[in-house]
Amino acid sequence: MTADEIHAALRGLHAELTVLGPDDLKGRDPGEHPQNFGAGVMALPSSSAAASAAIRWCGENGVAIVPQGGRTGLAGGAVSRAGELILSTSRLTTIEKVDAAERTATVQAGVTLEALQAAAASLGLIPGIDLASRGTATIGGMISTNAGGILAFRNGVMRHLVLGLEAVLPDGTIVDDMTRVVKVSAGPDIKQLLIGAEGAYGFITRAVITLEAIRAFRATALLGVSGAGSALAVIARLESEAGISLEGAELMWRRFYERSASVQGLHLGWLEGDADAVLLVEISAASEAEAAASLEGVLAEIWERATIAGGIIAQSHDQRRRFWALREQSEFIYRDFPDAPSYDVSIPPLAIDSYVATLQRRLSAIDPDYRPFIYGHVADGNLHIAIDRGDIDSEDRKRAIDDAVYEGITSSGGSFSAEHGVGFDKRHGYLAHANPTKVEIARRLKQLFDPANLFNPGKVPFT
Ligand SMILES: Cc1cc2nc3c(=O)[nH]c(=O)nc-3n(C[C@H](O)[C@H](O)[C@H](O)COP(=O)(O)OP(=O)(O)OC[C@H]3O[C@@H](n4cnc5c(N)ncnc54)[C@H](O)[C@@H]3O)c2cc1C
Repeated sequence: MTADEIHAALRGLHAELTVLGPDDLKGRDPGEHPQNFGAGVMALPSSSAAASAAIRWCGENGVAIVPQGGRTGLAGGAVSRAGELILSTSRLTTIEKVDAAERTATVQAGVTLEALQAAAASLGLIPGIDLASRGTATIGGMISTNAGGILAFRNGVMRHLVLGLEAVLPDGTIVDDMTRVVKVSAGPDIKQLLIGAEGAYGFITRAVITLEAIRAFRATALLGVSGAGSALAVIARLESEAGISLEGAELMWRRFYERSASVQGLHLGWLEGDADAVLLVEISAASEAEAAASLEGVLAEIWERATIAGGIIAQSHDQRRRFWALREQSEFIYRDFPDAPSYDVSIPPLAIDSYVATLQRRLSAIDPDYRPFIYGHVADGNLHIAIDRGDIDSEDRKRAIDDAVYEGITSSGGSFSAEHGVGFDKRHGYLAHANPTKVEIARRLKQLFDPANLFNPGKVPFT
């Protein structure tokens, strides 16, 4: 069916279903992937019943479905093609309840992380997850990609924060598993199969998320370190300090921080010399004064032990914001190198330094000019890697780079994909480097949930 035919057929199907056709989508932002609007037609339910009606119609008419949230995904999981229907959560934006006593939020799937943060903050709470894409990424998308982010080293990833879930399965059945308790030992936890499934097993419509108390009083520093090993020593020392809580620990290797600092207009000349990497740390304490004093105390101690090569503590909220921008505003890579091959891997933290050294050697063996940008959530071993080339069009060369990045990760206890998912773009990595037994089980589950391959075809689990 063409986009216009799907558009015409779906209009009037359900009172709570809005449908946008090719003309309506023209000029709208497709998000992180230029092909996200490839289908040219989008259904926007404002209730689970309307989503179910649209999904049933698709099943009866053989129209494949691509679920979309905020379209900030970085693995091409929301890419859509002609003949498919985009099923968007952008009208499922109700925050149904934030319960301060239970510390839970009940939300529709299209609520953005930032909207949930704001609603929870009014009661002194926050979701225990944070990402740079907070303004646009949705709770449904974050559940579907099993998002990680800044606080995962402390709170785990999205699957650890979801208490309850509602989803519409490919046959239109609404699964209501909106539990609000941590402990449910009643057979296999079916909702966990939908978490991280990137829209392959169904459309998530609602969720119950755990919240934690806001820790508002912060102190933030940039520290020069010799690599992940010394960064982890600093992190361990901060985590052992009484009365403070570690809120962020982000590592940027030299090439990344130098380029990012130049884009941000920050002068990090004090780091020249010994530092191979810059560690951003943020702590919280009972008051701003206590946070600053504790951070200063610990840094003075580790400075004496030469664990750090230099450092600076933010003196104002504006400076703190600029420190975070140094790490979070990484778009400069893709401005300078459009289509740069990029990766998101997990390495057991103590193996990071040897992985980085080996990676640089492997890339140089492919081309002596390849120098990667490396940065990431070091405390949980999550590295983002982008190659400084935007013009690699040979498939063999791309495979060689993939293999240089992925080799040995699974056997070392890491993962070729950490927090961005697999989508369309990481097919080779998934088929070549994921655990083959798990790949086969994921395929069988796809058969069970979606025998007609209606949801997100051509993407993980690549049936
Ligand atoms: C600047 C920037 C920083 C980022 N930082 C991080 C980070 O620190 N940590 C991290 O984990 N990610 C990060 N990301 C990636 C991205 O924000 C996450 O993957 C996020 O979880 C995607 O949410 P979304 O709503 O945009 O989903 P989308 O991009 O719309 O979709 C992502 C996938 O989920 C599926 N999906 C979406 N909604 C549903 C639903 N309701 N039901 C079923 N399937 C659905 C889609 O089909 C697709 O496969 C970052 C992205 C950017 C641009």
